[in-house]
Formats: sequence, C-alpha cells, structure tokens
Amino acid sequence: MDLIIARDRRELAEARTKLGLTGGPGAPTLALVPTMGALHEGHLSLVRLAKKHADLVAVSIFVNPLQFGPGEDFDRYPRTFEADVAACRAEGVDLIFAPSADVMYPPDRQVGVSSGRMGTIVEGHFRPGHFDGVLTVVLKLFNLIRPDVAVFGQKDAQQLAMIRRMVADLDVPVRIVGAPIVREPDGLAMSSRNRYLSPEEREIALALSRALREGAARRTPSEIVAATRAVLDAAPLQVDYVVLADPATFEEVGEDHAGEAVLAVAARVGTTRLIDNVTVTLPPPGE
Ligand code: AMP
Repeated sequence: MDLIIARDRRELAEARTKLGLTGGPGAPTLALVPTMGALHEGHLSLVRLAKKHADLVAVSIFVNPLQFGPGEDFDRYPRTFEADVAACRAEGVDLIFAPSADVMYPPDRQVGVSSGRMGTIVEGHFRPGHFDGVLTVVLKLFNLIRPDVAVFGQKDAQQLAMIRRMVADLDVPVRIVGAPIVREPDGLAMSSRNRYLSPEEREIALALSRALREGAARRTPSEIVAATRAVLDAAPLQVDYVVLADPATFEEVGEDHAGEAVLAVAARVGTTRLIDNVTVTLPPPGE
C-alpha cells in the first residue's frame, strides 16, 4: 500500500482503518518514530529499526511549539515536508502523521505533562519547560496514533530517559526502543540543526565529538569531564554544559560511580546550539 499522509484526527482514524489497525487478534503491530521533520540519516536509521520491531511504521512530523522557549529557533526550524515524504516513501513507511499546531493544541488547552525534577536538570536547566513540552506532545502522539512500540534516538539521551520515565510513571502502554547516534563520517552527530552551520562553524562543531572521544578515553569521572571540557574550551564556541550523568536519572554521577554513564555536552557555535553524548563504562574505583 502507498504511504498514507494524515493531517488531523479524522484522517488518522481513516488511515488506521485502511491499515487494518483494529487492535483485534491478528491485527498488525505499529511502531512510531516521532520527529520534527527535516529528516536525515539519523531519523531514517530509527525508521529501519522500527521496522524490525513491528509490522507497520508510522512517522510523525510536527515542529512542536510547546518545546521551544522564547528566543529559541522555532520560527527558523527547517521545514522540508516534500523531501521528508519522499524519504519516508523510499524507506517503506506506512503512515505519516503531520498535524498543524491548531490540530494538536486547542486554544483553551490547560493540562500537560510535568517532567518533574529530571526536566529541570542538565538540558532542562538550559531549556526551562522544554521537557514538559516534549512529554506532552509525545503522550498526545501516543494517544492519537496508538503505537505498540516507539523508537527514539540516543542523540537526545535525556529525552530518551525522560520518555522511559514517563512511560513507567504513567503506565503508558507503549514499548520504548532506543537507537544509537548516527554520525557524519568526520564524527559530527547528525542533526536537523546542522544545516544552520556555515562551513567554518561546521568545522568548529567537530569539537563536540572530538571532546567526547577525548573524555571517553579517561578512567575516572573527574578526568573524563576535565578532558572533555579542555577540548571544548580550546574551541571558539560557548559551552552550556559538560556532564557525566546516570543514564536513567541524568543526575551527575559521583567519583565512585561504576558501570554505565552518559557523557553529555551542549554548546553554541555562533547562533546554533548543538548537543552530543557518548555512553562510557566506568570500572569500579581502584581497578
Ligand atoms: P528530532 O526531529 O530532532 O526531534 O528527532 C527525532 C528523533 O530522531 C529523536 O528520537 C532523535 O533522538 C532522533 N535523532 C535525531 N538525530 C539523530 C541521530 N544523529 N542519530 C540517531 N537518532 C537521531
């Protein structure tokens, strides 16, 4: 069947019927890949992973105003709908849900998801309200599209952790699958925002992945953070944070932490804000 594009609740209901998503025995299973569009290989890797986890794949494309703060890049965020549709068709996506803001948010909207303490630390400290906006839209997308599985990238590591937390805390009946970060050959993590970068800024932006590689080669939390920061401090960019965090809670880990931790960075190159991370495994202290 050709790719179905749904723009509102009625079209979505029709699409669900056409795709046989009745929820009954023998009905196909559905995986959702939520995106803000301007699709690149990172997004498409999520689609490919989604296909392994369900019979049908839906991609949502929605630049969610709720997750952008005042002065952030909502207005200039890249919107490339026709190219996104072509890419989804080429990947064999079954359904695109691309609502307008009016469809998603009634003007008298009042209730949303509160992201708790985890929404106020690290990335949440620099983007107040961001994770409330993310969780609210993701829960709405789950309720509208009703997927069995949803795939999110490790690129947004704190977002992935928060969505797992929401699903656990609110008993949301969706299985969450995490997908590895897709990078350009030179190490830059793929991002829709990379297209803001001038050739000179793109060169500078390589400091993020270089810094993570330097950091990940060290052994203790303080050495890891210091080595990461040293690379970033030497580059002409503004660092928002360098943190070594617990992958589930995003709390900073202590010097005696053993096991997995996420080394996460955020920095501004010119007017473009970039984030990146790598997962490290720390040996028990003294080993
Ligand atoms: P976005 O459109 O930026 O909101 O991203 C939509 C989904 O794609 C999120 O789950 C992101 O974590 C994921 N994603 C974005 N960039 C990458 C990447 N380079 N590698 C893997 N996943 C990514």
